[in-house]
Amino acid sequence: MAKKAFNIIVIKVGSSSLTNPQGNLDLTNLKRIALEISDLVKNKKKVILVTSGSIVCGAERLGLGKPKTIPQKQAAAAVGQARLMRQYEKAFEKYDLTVAQVLLTRDAIANRERYLNARHCFDTLLEENVIPIVNENDAVAIDEIKIGDNDNLAALTASLIGADLLVLLTDVDGFYMKNEEGVSFLADEITEIDQNVEDAAGHPSTQLGTGGMITKIQAARVCSNAGTYMAIVNGRKEGLIKQVIKGEPAGTLFIPKTSKMDSRKRWLAHGLQVEGKLVIDPGAESALLKQNTSLLPVGILSSSGEFSRGALVSIVDESSREIARGLIDIPSEELATMIGKKGVGIAIHRDNLVLL
Ligand code: GLU
Repeated sequence: MAKKAFNIIVIKVGSSSLTNPQGNLDLTNLKRIALEISDLVKNKKKVILVTSGSIVCGAERLGLGKPKTIPQKQAAAAVGQARLMRQYEKAFEKYDLTVAQVLLTRDAIANRERYLNARHCFDTLLEENVIPIVNENDAVAIDEIKIGDNDNLAALTASLIGADLLVLLTDVDGFYMKNEEGVSFLADEITEIDQNVEDAAGHPSTQLGTGGMITKIQAARVCSNAGTYMAIVNGRKEGLIKQVIKGEPAGTLFIPKTSKMDSRKRWLAHGLQVEGKLVIDPGAESALLKQNTSLLPVGILSSSGEFSRGALVSIVDESSREIARGLIDIPSEELATMIGKKGVGIAIHRDNLVLL
């Protein structure tokens, strides 16, 4: 059943949907996905494609087999990204559509100015009816600044652009849960990412592992907080993207827990990397949740991590459940002397706080 209108849509194609059993680029599937996306664009949908496959594509060309070292992977990505784009360009040209390449890294998203630049670029491309094709800039992204996987990259892109829906195309039919008898079943709708869901994602004995469900659930969490719907569907079956958009069952649909957050709060919640953690008491928790107040040192029970003023910290309750994130006004060393004290200022101003 349609929950809402899906107009801005991010579609992520995993390597599994783009490679054949020999590990080479599967052009037939790439072309079919391009056809489905062009149909959506012709129907006035704004679509961003997040694609994997640069490493596979480059390794194929260089005859590297499965690249092992980081420089090998980077070289494969550099070669493969160009080849991949060439194939997409050809595939979309057939439908008179122009594509654009956008390569992102973690720091491009963490830096507020670069984040806004990226957003304006996406907005302009979409206004011009161009299909932005996104990948991580693997050729230069070292571990410290890597997002690391395209499920999270797609969710961050969806949050950046304020998408209505993220569709993850993968090699299984959706997200499998286990019932009380331990039997696997395909979940058609998930409204809360609770412990059961986390457990199912991490369970090695089900077929979930092949689809890399842990990163998909991380992506679902980002979407849920940003107010974006997310679907996991089989990337080899025809017509499923359209079915999701129409609200018909087609895999697993994750319903967001909030309506759409404003853009700056989405950046606060997902763009930056968390540098510290504050455990707060129940009084402070209820003030944040019910009265939308700032966080004061008196409500903080403990602080961990080293952070300077302006860093992003995670706010958790005593059971380690994350309640909010915010930009801290007091560096960690100074904060350590203020914890539990009254009248010593504000730790995080409410304008810089986002409830999760
Ligand atoms: N960015 C990688 C590539 O293009 C893929 C990462 C992923 O699939 O999660 O090969």
